[in-house]
Amino acid sequence: MANLLLGKTIAEQINQQVSREVAQLRERYNVQPVLCAIQVGDDKESTLYLDFQGKVAQRLNIGYLVKSLPKQTTKQELIALIKQLNDDPKINGIILQLPLPAQLDPNEIRGSLNPAKDVEGVHPENLGNIILKRKGFAPCTACAVMELLKSLNIDLYGKEAVVVGHSEIVGKPLAVMLLNELVTTTVCHIATGKRGVLAEHVKRAEILIVAVGKPNLIKGDWIKPGAIVIDVGINCIEQKIVGDVEFEPAEKKASFITPVPGGVGPVTVALLMQNVTQAAKAQLNLDGE
Ligand code: NAP
Repeated sequence: MANLLLGKTIAEQINQQVSREVAQLRERYNVQPVLCAIQVGDDKESTLYLDFQGKVAQRLNIGYLVKSLPKQTTKQELIALIKQLNDDPKINGIILQLPLPAQLDPNEIRGSLNPAKDVEGVHPENLGNIILKRKGFAPCTACAVMELLKSLNIDLYGKEAVVVGHSEIVGKPLAVMLLNELVTTTVCHIATGKRGVLAEHVKRAEILIVAVGKPNLIKGDWIKPGAIVIDVGINCIEQKIVGDVEFEPAEKKASFITPVPGGVGPVTVALLMQNVTQAAKAQLNLDGE
């Protein structure tokens, strides 16, 4: 039976450190880090995520505001708001909530963020820095997965990892982060499933990371005995939140498995708040402190 890899515990450690840094910024410089979230439209799940961010920010004494725009917002209007926030010295970090309505291409919009305020790590410059192993903000969810792996104190060198899902902000950056640690990394996507070889790849994984958004996509009996399973997926079924992996059978085979909820999610938000604090420091030229 697997051990539960509880993101909540790791998130709490990060939050405590962030809280100390926020207090220091206030005492020494009378500065409060501020995060601004932008939501276009009123997607229900995105609103739940905003509420969660707001609660964590409040606990950590980080300023948090939400700019809500109507569903029919144009590219020009959204970019104009982002530019205004980029230029506002009181705002340290900006997060663009997904999904965006169909007329707005997230990749195009992300490019208008100031990379120094892109606390979610989705600007092309920040994404590129991952490949070059340079410092900078990296996508929080991918970083959260790496934090969870790090918490296990295992040697990643040469391990066999399979990442299911290849989105720009989760699967792809995560694959690069694993490669940077010399993990042997396979990335599966829609075509892997269509060719009928998803199970074959998953069965080889010593480390399995799933970020798709389809409940029960990964069957429990595909899990390699002793594997580490990190389920990024969030799916709402009959008022219940579940991941992408069939949890109970997978739990019987894995050595570690993240629960959903309570796995990757809390660590993602803790890292987002850490980035806001880092951004505030960098904007005060206090990066080293
Ligand atoms: P996304 O942009 O929709 O990407 C989903 C990926 O899954 C795509 O690369 C897609 O490939 C692939 N895919 C679709 N069907 C597949 C199949 N049958 N077999 C293999 N791959 C398949 O989603 P995302 O933003 O990466 O998020 C993924 C999931 O993680 C969602 O459930 C989301 O809610 C959750 N999430 C959780 C957190 C957290 O903190 N816990 C943060 C972000 C996201 P194609 O593009 O080729 O179709």
